[in-house]
Amino acid sequence: MNESKNKLSMEELTSYAKRRGFVFQASELYGGIGGFWDLGPYGAELADNIKSSWWKFFVYKNANVVGVNTTIIQNPKLWKASGHIDTFVDPMVDCKECKHRFRADHVAGIDTNDLKKLDEKLKETACPNCGAKYSFTPARTFQMMFKTYVGPIEDDANVAYLRPETAGGIFAQYENVRETTRKKLPFGIAQIGKAFRNEITPGDFIFRLRELTQMELEVFVHPKQAKDQYDEWKQKCMDWVQSIGLSKENLQYHDHADDERAHYAEASVDIQYNYPFGFKELYGIANRTDYDLSAHAKESGKDLTYFDEATGERFIPYVIEPSVGVERLLMAVMLDAYDEEEVGGEKRVVMRFKPEIAPVKAAVLPLSKKPELSGLAKDVFAKIAGDYNVEYDETQSIGKRYRRQDEIGTPFCITVDFDSLEDKAVTVRERDTMKQERIKIEELKAYLDEKLKY
Ligand code: ATP
Repeated sequence: MNESKNKLSMEELTSYAKRRGFVFQASELYGGIGGFWDLGPYGAELADNIKSSWWKFFVYKNANVVGVNTTIIQNPKLWKASGHIDTFVDPMVDCKECKHRFRADHVAGIDTNDLKKLDEKLKETACPNCGAKYSFTPARTFQMMFKTYVGPIEDDANVAYLRPETAGGIFAQYENVRETTRKKLPFGIAQIGKAFRNEITPGDFIFRLRELTQMELEVFVHPKQAKDQYDEWKQKCMDWVQSIGLSKENLQYHDHADDERAHYAEASVDIQYNYPFGFKELYGIANRTDYDLSAHAKESGKDLTYFDEATGERFIPYVIEPSVGVERLLMAVMLDAYDEEEVGGEKRVVMRFKPEIAPVKAAVLPLSKKPELSGLAKDVFAKIAGDYNVEYDETQSIGKRYRRQDEIGTPFCITVDFDSLEDKAVTVRERDTMKQERIKIEELKAYLDEKLKY
Protein backbone atom coordinates (compact mmCIF):
# COMPACT_ATOMS: atom_id res chain seq x y z
CA MET A 1 0.00 0.00 0.00
CA ASN A 2 1.26 3.46 -0.86
CA GLU A 3 1.92 5.75 2.06
CA SER A 4 -0.57 8.61 1.96
CA LYS A 5 1.01 12.04 1.61
CA ASN A 6 -1.59 13.41 3.99
CA LYS A 7 -1.02 14.24 7.62
CA LEU A 8 -4.12 12.65 9.14
CA SER A 9 -4.95 9.01 9.79
CA MET A 10 -8.55 7.86 9.41
CA GLU A 11 -9.14 8.00 13.17
CA GLU A 12 -7.68 11.50 13.37
CA LEU A 13 -9.76 12.71 10.43
CA THR A 14 -12.98 11.25 11.87
CA SER A 15 -12.36 12.84 15.24
CA TYR A 16 -11.27 16.18 13.74
CA ALA A 17 -14.35 16.28 11.52
CA LYS A 18 -16.55 15.76 14.55
CA ARG A 19 -14.74 18.16 16.92
CA ARG A 20 -14.77 20.97 14.39
CA GLY A 21 -18.39 20.52 13.30
CA PHE A 22 -17.87 19.03 9.83
CA VAL A 23 -19.31 15.51 10.08
CA PHE A 24 -21.31 13.77 12.80
CA GLN A 25 -22.54 10.21 13.02
CA ALA A 26 -26.21 10.10 12.02
CA SER A 27 -28.50 9.38 14.99
CA GLU A 28 -25.49 9.55 17.29
CA LEU A 29 -27.89 10.20 20.15
CA TYR A 30 -29.29 6.70 19.64
CA GLY A 31 -26.03 4.88 19.05
CA GLY A 32 -25.70 5.77 15.37
CA ILE A 33 -26.74 3.81 12.29
CA GLY A 34 -24.17 2.09 10.09
CA GLY A 35 -23.30 3.81 6.83
CA PHE A 36 -25.13 7.08 7.54
CA TRP A 37 -23.40 10.34 8.47
CA ASP A 38 -24.73 13.86 8.94
CA LEU A 39 -22.96 17.02 7.85
CA GLY A 40 -22.54 19.61 10.58
CA PRO A 41 -22.48 23.38 10.00
CA TYR A 42 -19.04 23.43 8.31
CA GLY A 43 -19.47 20.14 6.46
CA ALA A 44 -22.79 21.29 5.02
CA GLU A 45 -21.20 24.54 3.77
CA LEU A 46 -18.19 22.72 2.40
CA ALA A 47 -20.37 20.20 0.56
CA ASP A 48 -22.56 22.97 -0.87
CA ASN A 49 -19.51 24.85 -2.08
CA ILE A 50 -18.11 21.70 -3.71
CA LYS A 51 -21.45 21.10 -5.42
CA SER A 52 -21.66 24.68 -6.57
CA SER A 53 -18.10 24.59 -7.95
CA TRP A 54 -18.89 21.35 -9.82
CA TRP A 55 -22.08 22.83 -11.27
CA LYS A 56 -20.28 25.96 -12.44
CA PHE A 57 -17.41 23.99 -13.97
CA PHE A 58 -19.44 21.25 -15.66
CA VAL A 59 -22.74 23.00 -16.43
CA TYR A 60 -22.29 26.78 -16.64
CA LYS A 61 -18.90 26.66 -18.36
CA ASN A 62 -20.08 24.22 -21.03
CA ALA A 63 -22.60 25.62 -23.47
CA ASN A 64 -23.67 22.09 -24.36
CA VAL A 65 -24.46 20.92 -20.81
CA VAL A 66 -27.74 21.47 -18.96
CA GLY A 67 -28.88 20.35 -15.51
CA VAL A 68 -31.92 18.48 -14.22
CA ASN A 69 -33.34 17.46 -10.89
CA THR A 70 -35.19 14.15 -11.07
CA THR A 71 -36.93 12.23 -8.30
CA ILE A 72 -35.37 9.67 -6.00
CA ILE A 73 -38.26 7.27 -6.50
CA GLN A 74 -39.01 6.35 -10.09
CA ASN A 75 -41.15 3.78 -11.84
CA PRO A 76 -39.44 0.44 -11.03
CA LYS A 77 -39.44 -0.40 -14.75
CA LEU A 78 -36.62 2.13 -15.05
CA TRP A 79 -34.42 0.01 -12.78
CA LYS A 80 -35.46 -3.13 -14.62
CA ALA A 81 -34.30 -1.54 -17.87
CA SER A 82 -31.04 -0.24 -16.43
CA GLY A 83 -30.19 -3.71 -15.14
CA HIS A 84 -30.15 -2.66 -11.49
CA ILE A 85 -32.96 -5.02 -10.40
CA ASP A 86 -31.13 -8.03 -11.84
CA THR A 87 -27.49 -7.09 -11.50
CA PHE A 88 -26.99 -4.35 -8.89
CA VAL A 89 -25.79 -6.92 -6.45
CA ASP A 90 -22.65 -7.41 -4.43
CA PRO A 91 -21.26 -10.78 -3.37
CA MET A 92 -21.14 -11.41 0.36
CA VAL A 93 -19.74 -14.06 2.69
CA ASP A 94 -19.90 -14.71 6.40
CA CYS A 95 -17.17 -16.10 8.60
CA LYS A 96 -18.61 -19.12 10.38
CA GLU A 97 -16.24 -18.63 13.30
CA CYS A 98 -16.66 -14.97 14.26
CA LYS A 99 -19.93 -14.34 12.34
CA HIS A 100 -18.49 -11.25 10.64
CA ARG A 101 -19.99 -10.38 7.25
CA PHE A 102 -17.79 -9.20 4.36
CA ARG A 103 -17.89 -8.15 0.73
CA ALA A 104 -16.60 -11.37 -0.83
CA ASP A 105 -14.66 -9.55 -3.57
CA HIS A 106 -12.95 -7.32 -1.02
CA VAL A 107 -11.82 -10.24 1.17
CA ALA A 108 -10.78 -12.33 -1.83
CA GLY A 109 -8.92 -9.37 -3.29
CA ILE A 110 -10.37 -9.87 -6.77
CA ASP A 111 -12.72 -7.49 -8.53
CA THR A 112 -15.47 -9.85 -9.70
CA ASN A 113 -19.04 -10.90 -8.98
CA ASP A 114 -18.39 -14.43 -10.23
CA LEU A 115 -19.35 -16.56 -7.22
CA LYS A 116 -17.36 -19.61 -8.35
CA LYS A 117 -14.16 -17.62 -8.77
CA LEU A 118 -14.74 -16.00 -5.40
CA ASP A 119 -15.31 -19.32 -3.61
CA GLU A 120 -12.10 -20.68 -5.13
CA LYS A 121 -10.09 -17.72 -3.92
CA LEU A 122 -11.76 -17.65 -0.50
CA LYS A 123 -10.61 -21.21 0.14
CA GLU A 124 -7.07 -19.85 0.40
CA THR A 125 -8.04 -16.77 2.40
CA ALA A 126 -8.10 -16.34 6.17
CA CYS A 127 -10.83 -14.28 7.83
CA PRO A 128 -9.51 -10.71 8.16
CA ASN A 129 -11.37 -10.34 11.45
CA CYS A 130 -10.50 -13.49 13.44
CA GLY A 131 -7.84 -15.13 11.27
CA ALA A 132 -9.78 -18.42 10.97
CA LYS A 133 -9.06 -20.55 7.90
CA TYR A 134 -11.59 -22.40 5.72
CA SER A 135 -14.27 -20.53 7.64
CA PHE A 136 -16.27 -18.74 4.94
CA THR A 137 -19.79 -19.61 3.89
CA PRO A 138 -20.25 -19.92 0.11
CA ALA A 139 -20.40 -16.48 -1.49
CA ARG A 140 -23.91 -15.30 -2.36
CA THR A 141 -25.27 -12.20 -3.97
CA PHE A 142 -27.12 -9.42 -2.23
CA GLN A 143 -29.45 -6.81 -3.84
CA MET A 144 -28.15 -3.38 -2.94
CA MET A 145 -31.19 -1.25 -3.73
CA PHE A 146 -33.32 -0.11 -0.80
CA LYS A 147 -36.94 -1.18 -1.27
CA THR A 148 -40.04 0.69 -0.23
CA TYR A 149 -43.74 0.81 -1.11
CA VAL A 150 -45.65 3.53 -2.86
CA GLY A 151 -49.12 4.07 -1.37
CA PRO A 152 -50.77 2.33 1.57
CA ILE A 153 -50.62 -1.25 0.34
CA GLU A 154 -47.41 -3.14 0.98
CA ASP A 155 -47.56 -5.71 -1.80
CA ASP A 156 -45.37 -6.63 -4.78
CA ALA A 157 -47.37 -4.45 -7.15
CA ASN A 158 -46.42 -1.34 -5.15
CA VAL A 159 -42.72 -1.98 -4.63
CA ALA A 160 -40.42 0.93 -5.47
CA TYR A 161 -36.73 1.53 -4.98
CA LEU A 162 -34.64 4.40 -3.68
CA ARG A 163 -32.40 5.26 -6.62
CA PRO A 164 -28.93 3.70 -6.42
CA GLU A 165 -27.52 6.41 -8.72
CA THR A 166 -28.85 9.64 -10.15
CA ALA A 167 -28.14 8.67 -13.77
CA GLY A 168 -31.37 6.67 -14.22
CA GLY A 169 -33.54 9.78 -14.01
CA ILE A 170 -31.33 11.51 -16.58
CA PHE A 171 -31.69 8.70 -19.13
CA ALA A 172 -35.45 8.60 -18.64
CA GLN A 173 -35.66 12.35 -19.38
CA TYR A 174 -33.12 12.36 -22.21
CA GLU A 175 -35.71 12.84 -24.95
CA ASN A 176 -37.64 15.59 -23.10
CA VAL A 177 -34.44 17.50 -22.41
CA ARG A 178 -33.16 17.11 -25.97
CA GLU A 179 -36.47 18.27 -27.42
CA THR A 180 -37.02 21.23 -25.10
CA THR A 181 -33.47 22.55 -25.24
CA ARG A 182 -32.97 21.73 -28.96
CA LYS A 183 -29.50 20.39 -28.18
CA LYS A 184 -27.42 18.71 -30.84
CA LEU A 185 -24.85 16.02 -30.11
CA PRO A 186 -22.59 16.10 -28.26
CA PHE A 187 -24.54 17.43 -25.30
CA GLY A 188 -24.65 16.61 -21.63
CA ILE A 189 -27.20 16.41 -18.82
CA ALA A 190 -25.96 16.91 -15.27
CA GLN A 191 -27.55 16.13 -11.94
CA ILE A 192 -26.60 16.37 -8.29
CA GLY A 193 -28.58 14.39 -5.76
CA LYS A 194 -28.93 11.70 -3.19
CA ALA A 195 -28.45 8.04 -4.02
CA PHE A 196 -28.90 5.02 -1.76
CA ARG A 197 -26.95 1.78 -1.69
CA ASN A 198 -27.45 -0.91 0.90
CA GLU A 199 -23.71 -1.57 1.07
CA ILE A 200 -22.80 -4.82 2.83
CA THR A 201 -19.85 -3.29 4.60
CA PRO A 202 -20.11 0.47 4.79
CA GLY A 203 -17.15 2.10 6.43
CA ASP A 204 -13.91 4.03 6.25
CA PHE A 205 -15.78 7.02 7.66
CA ILE A 206 -17.70 8.65 4.79
CA PHE A 207 -15.91 6.73 2.02
CA ARG A 208 -18.53 3.99 1.71
CA LEU A 209 -21.99 5.19 2.67
CA ARG A 210 -25.50 3.84 2.41
CA GLU A 211 -26.90 7.30 1.71
CA LEU A 212 -24.63 9.38 -0.50
CA THR A 213 -24.71 12.36 -2.83
CA GLN A 214 -23.65 11.95 -6.43
CA MET A 215 -22.67 14.48 -9.04
CA GLU A 216 -23.22 12.84 -12.39
CA LEU A 217 -22.93 13.94 -15.96
CA GLU A 218 -24.21 11.94 -18.91
CA VAL A 219 -22.74 13.19 -22.18
CA PHE A 220 -24.60 11.96 -25.26
CA VAL A 221 -22.33 11.62 -28.27
CA HIS A 222 -22.10 10.21 -31.76
CA PRO A 223 -20.44 6.76 -31.49
CA LYS A 224 -17.55 8.07 -33.57
CA GLN A 225 -16.96 10.93 -31.11
CA ALA A 226 -17.02 8.64 -28.08
CA LYS A 227 -13.29 8.03 -27.72
CA ASP A 228 -12.34 11.71 -28.01
CA GLN A 229 -15.14 12.77 -25.70
CA TYR A 230 -14.11 10.16 -23.15
CA ASP A 231 -10.54 11.49 -23.17
CA GLU A 232 -11.76 15.08 -22.95
CA TRP A 233 -14.05 14.54 -19.92
CA LYS A 234 -11.48 12.36 -18.19
CA GLN A 235 -9.08 15.30 -18.35
CA LYS A 236 -11.73 17.82 -17.28
CA CYS A 237 -12.54 15.76 -14.19
CA MET A 238 -8.86 15.61 -13.26
CA ASP A 239 -8.51 19.38 -13.81
CA TRP A 240 -11.55 20.15 -11.68
CA VAL A 241 -10.57 18.04 -8.65
CA GLN A 242 -7.21 19.80 -8.66
CA SER A 243 -8.88 23.19 -9.01
CA ILE A 244 -10.72 22.64 -5.72
CA GLY A 245 -7.53 21.75 -3.88
CA LEU A 246 -6.56 18.10 -4.33
CA SER A 247 -2.81 17.81 -4.84
CA LYS A 248 -1.53 16.24 -8.01
CA GLU A 249 0.65 13.73 -6.17
CA ASN A 250 -2.39 12.36 -4.31
CA LEU A 251 -4.24 11.61 -7.55
CA GLN A 252 -3.81 8.96 -10.20
CA TYR A 253 -5.77 7.37 -13.04
CA HIS A 254 -6.58 3.70 -12.80
CA ASP A 255 -7.65 2.32 -16.19
CA HIS A 256 -9.93 -0.67 -15.93
CA ALA A 257 -8.79 -3.93 -17.43
CA ASP A 258 -11.32 -5.95 -19.47
CA ASP A 259 -12.38 -8.05 -16.48
CA GLU A 260 -12.89 -5.00 -14.22
CA ARG A 261 -15.24 -3.22 -16.61
CA ALA A 262 -19.02 -3.49 -16.85
CA HIS A 263 -19.79 -5.77 -19.83
CA TYR A 264 -21.33 -2.91 -21.84
CA ALA A 265 -18.57 -0.35 -21.25
CA GLU A 266 -16.02 0.17 -23.98
CA ALA A 267 -13.59 1.91 -21.64
CA SER A 268 -13.61 3.02 -18.03
CA VAL A 269 -11.19 4.66 -15.67
CA ASP A 270 -11.18 5.74 -12.05
CA ILE A 271 -9.52 8.81 -10.72
CA GLN A 272 -8.11 7.47 -7.49
CA TYR A 273 -7.21 9.51 -4.45
CA ASN A 274 -4.50 8.59 -1.98
CA TYR A 275 -6.63 8.07 1.14
CA PRO A 276 -4.94 6.96 4.39
CA PHE A 277 -5.87 3.38 3.36
CA GLY A 278 -4.25 3.74 -0.08
CA PHE A 279 -5.24 4.85 -3.59
CA LYS A 280 -8.98 4.23 -3.96
CA GLU A 281 -11.73 5.27 -6.39
CA LEU A 282 -12.83 8.85 -6.09
CA TYR A 283 -14.27 9.51 -9.54
CA GLY A 284 -15.47 7.03 -12.17
CA ILE A 285 -15.52 7.84 -15.88
CA ALA A 286 -16.94 5.41 -18.42
CA ASN A 287 -17.76 5.13 -22.08
CA ARG A 288 -21.07 3.30 -21.63
CA THR A 289 -21.70 2.89 -25.38
CA ASP A 290 -25.40 2.89 -26.42
CA TYR A 291 -26.26 0.51 -23.56
CA ASP A 292 -28.45 2.89 -21.52
CA LEU A 293 -30.59 4.46 -24.19
CA SER A 294 -30.98 1.11 -26.02
CA ALA A 295 -32.12 -0.56 -22.80
CA HIS A 296 -34.64 2.21 -22.02
CA ALA A 297 -35.91 2.23 -25.61
CA LYS A 298 -36.47 -1.52 -25.41
CA GLU A 299 -38.20 -1.53 -22.00
CA SER A 300 -40.38 1.54 -22.68
CA GLY A 301 -41.12 0.79 -26.34
CA LYS A 302 -40.22 4.43 -27.17
CA ASP A 303 -37.95 5.49 -29.99
CA LEU A 304 -34.81 7.01 -28.49
CA THR A 305 -32.82 7.19 -31.70
CA TYR A 306 -31.19 10.48 -32.67
CA PHE A 307 -31.60 11.91 -36.14
CA ASP A 308 -28.58 13.80 -37.41
CA GLU A 309 -29.93 16.39 -39.84
CA ALA A 310 -26.52 17.10 -41.31
CA THR A 311 -25.73 13.53 -42.32
CA GLY A 312 -29.20 11.98 -42.45
CA GLU A 313 -28.05 9.27 -40.01
CA ARG A 314 -30.29 7.79 -37.32
CA PHE A 315 -28.67 6.07 -34.36
CA ILE A 316 -28.72 5.59 -30.59
CA PRO A 317 -26.18 7.97 -28.99
CA TYR A 318 -23.29 6.68 -26.94
CA VAL A 319 -22.90 7.94 -23.38
CA ILE A 320 -19.80 9.18 -21.58
CA GLU A 321 -20.42 9.23 -17.84
CA PRO A 322 -18.24 10.94 -15.24
CA SER A 323 -19.62 10.27 -11.75
CA VAL A 324 -18.35 11.30 -8.35
CA GLY A 325 -19.58 11.13 -4.76
CA VAL A 326 -19.66 14.41 -2.83
CA GLU A 327 -18.77 12.79 0.50
CA ARG A 328 -15.78 10.84 -0.87
CA LEU A 329 -14.58 14.08 -2.33
CA LEU A 330 -15.24 16.08 0.83
CA MET A 331 -13.13 13.58 2.73
CA ALA A 332 -10.28 13.93 0.23
CA VAL A 333 -10.55 17.72 0.34
CA MET A 334 -10.31 17.70 4.14
CA LEU A 335 -7.32 15.35 4.12
CA ASP A 336 -5.51 17.46 1.56
CA ALA A 337 -6.30 20.77 3.26
CA TYR A 338 -5.18 19.74 6.75
CA ASP A 339 -1.83 21.22 7.72
CA GLU A 340 0.18 21.76 10.87
CA GLU A 341 3.01 24.22 11.31
CA GLU A 342 4.98 25.83 14.10
CA VAL A 343 4.44 29.52 14.66
CA GLY A 344 6.33 31.27 17.46
CA GLY A 345 7.05 27.94 19.15
CA GLU A 346 3.40 26.87 19.06
CA LYS A 347 1.64 24.38 16.84
CA ARG A 348 -0.86 25.90 14.44
CA VAL A 349 -3.45 23.67 12.74
CA VAL A 350 -4.82 25.13 9.55
CA MET A 351 -7.21 23.86 6.93
CA ARG A 352 -5.83 25.25 3.69
CA PHE A 353 -9.12 25.11 1.78
CA LYS A 354 -9.26 26.98 -1.50
CA PRO A 355 -11.31 30.14 -0.73
CA GLU A 356 -13.91 28.97 -3.28
CA ILE A 357 -14.87 25.98 -1.15
CA ALA A 358 -13.97 27.21 2.36
CA PRO A 359 -17.06 26.81 4.59
CA VAL A 360 -16.64 30.26 6.15
CA LYS A 361 -15.16 33.01 3.99
CA ALA A 362 -14.51 35.60 6.68
CA ALA A 363 -14.86 36.07 10.44
CA VAL A 364 -15.54 39.39 12.15
CA LEU A 365 -13.74 39.53 15.50
CA PRO A 366 -14.11 42.57 17.76
CA LEU A 367 -11.05 42.91 19.99
CA SER A 368 -13.22 43.32 23.05
CA LYS A 369 -16.85 42.83 24.03
CA LYS A 370 -17.21 46.54 24.93
CA PRO A 371 -20.49 47.83 23.46
CA GLU A 372 -18.86 50.51 21.29
CA LEU A 373 -16.68 47.88 19.61
CA SER A 374 -19.46 45.26 19.36
CA GLY A 375 -21.72 47.85 17.77
CA LEU A 376 -19.18 48.73 15.09
CA ALA A 377 -18.24 45.06 14.55
CA LYS A 378 -21.89 44.16 14.02
CA ASP A 379 -22.14 46.93 11.40
CA VAL A 380 -19.06 45.49 9.69
CA PHE A 381 -20.65 42.03 9.76
CA ALA A 382 -23.88 43.37 8.25
CA LYS A 383 -21.92 45.08 5.44
CA ILE A 384 -20.25 41.88 4.24
CA ALA A 385 -22.55 39.02 5.26
CA GLY A 386 -25.21 37.76 2.87
CA ASP A 387 -23.32 37.12 -0.33
CA TYR A 388 -21.14 34.64 1.49
CA ASN A 389 -20.90 32.88 4.82
CA VAL A 390 -19.37 35.13 7.50
CA GLU A 391 -18.98 34.36 11.21
CA TYR A 392 -19.21 36.80 14.08
CA ASP A 393 -17.27 35.85 17.21
CA GLU A 394 -16.50 37.91 20.28
CA THR A 395 -15.71 35.16 22.78
CA GLN A 396 -12.21 34.31 24.14
CA SER A 397 -8.85 35.90 23.33
CA ILE A 398 -8.09 37.06 19.82
CA GLY A 399 -5.32 34.42 19.50
CA LYS A 400 -7.77 31.62 20.32
CA ARG A 401 -10.30 33.02 17.86
CA TYR A 402 -7.71 33.15 15.07
CA ARG A 403 -6.79 29.56 15.85
CA ARG A 404 -10.41 28.46 15.74
CA GLN A 405 -10.89 30.08 12.34
CA ASP A 406 -7.64 28.54 11.03
CA GLU A 407 -8.93 25.15 12.14
CA ILE A 408 -12.05 25.47 9.99
CA GLY A 409 -10.10 27.06 7.13
CA THR A 410 -11.52 30.61 7.11
CA PRO A 411 -9.42 32.58 4.57
CA PHE A 412 -9.91 36.02 6.20
CA CYS A 413 -10.20 37.22 9.81
CA ILE A 414 -11.34 40.79 10.29
CA THR A 415 -10.40 42.42 13.58
CA VAL A 416 -12.26 45.45 14.83
CA ASP A 417 -10.16 47.32 17.42
CA PHE A 418 -10.32 50.63 19.27
CA ASP A 419 -8.50 52.43 16.43
CA SER A 420 -11.33 51.31 14.16
CA LEU A 421 -13.62 53.75 16.00
CA GLU A 422 -11.32 56.57 14.87
CA ASP A 423 -9.92 55.54 11.50
CA LYS A 424 -13.01 53.59 10.31
CA ALA A 425 -10.71 50.77 9.24
CA VAL A 426 -10.20 47.14 10.26
CA THR A 427 -7.29 44.68 10.24
CA VAL A 428 -7.64 41.83 7.77
CA ARG A 429 -5.51 38.75 8.48
CA GLU A 430 -4.93 36.29 5.68
CA ARG A 431 -5.07 32.65 6.80
CA ASP A 432 -2.06 31.13 5.01
CA THR A 433 0.49 33.93 5.24
CA MET A 434 -0.95 35.43 8.46
CA LYS A 435 -0.15 38.77 6.85
CA GLN A 436 -2.22 41.66 8.22
CA GLU A 437 -3.53 44.59 6.25
CA ARG A 438 -5.46 47.67 7.34
CA ILE A 439 -8.54 48.17 5.16
CA LYS A 440 -11.13 50.96 5.27
CA ILE A 441 -14.53 49.60 6.35
CA GLU A 442 -16.23 51.13 3.35
CA GLU A 443 -13.78 49.33 1.05
CA LEU A 444 -13.96 45.99 2.87
CA LYS A 445 -16.73 44.40 0.80
CA ALA A 446 -15.01 45.25 -2.48
CA TYR A 447 -11.68 44.01 -1.04
CA LEU A 448 -13.20 40.64 -0.08
CA ASP A 449 -15.15 40.36 -3.33
CA GLU A 450 -11.89 40.74 -5.20
CA LYS A 451 -9.99 38.25 -3.02
CA LEU A 452 -12.80 35.69 -3.10
CA LYS A 453 -13.39 36.00 -6.85
CA TYR A 454 -13.17 32.71 -8.75
P1 ATP B 1 -17.08 1.20 -5.44
O1 ATP B 1 -16.34 0.30 -6.40
O2 ATP B 1 -16.18 1.96 -4.50
O3 ATP B 1 -18.22 0.51 -4.74
P2 ATP B 1 -18.64 2.01 -7.64
O4 ATP B 1 -17.72 1.65 -8.75
O5 ATP B 1 -19.78 1.15 -7.33
O6 ATP B 1 -17.76 2.32 -6.31
P3 ATP B 1 -19.99 4.02 -9.09
O7 ATP B 1 -21.22 3.22 -9.21
O8 ATP B 1 -19.12 4.17 -10.28
O9 ATP B 1 -19.12 3.48 -7.86
O10 ATP B 1 -20.37 5.43 -8.46
C1 ATP B 1 -19.78 6.63 -8.87
C2 ATP B 1 -19.17 7.38 -7.71
O11 ATP B 1 -20.09 7.50 -6.63
C3 ATP B 1 -17.94 6.71 -7.11
O12 ATP B 1 -16.78 7.03 -7.84
C4 ATP B 1 -17.91 7.30 -5.72
O13 ATP B 1 -17.30 8.59 -5.71
C5 ATP B 1 -19.38 7.45 -5.40
N1 ATP B 1 -19.86 6.32 -4.60
C6 ATP B 1 -20.31 5.12 -5.05
N2 ATP B 1 -20.70 4.34 -4.04
C7 ATP B 1 -20.51 5.05 -2.92
C8 ATP B 1 -20.74 4.81 -1.53
N3 ATP B 1 -21.27 3.67 -1.12
N4 ATP B 1 -20.43 5.78 -0.65
C9 ATP B 1 -19.90 6.96 -1.04
N5 ATP B 1 -19.67 7.25 -2.33
C10 ATP B 1 -19.96 6.32 -3.26
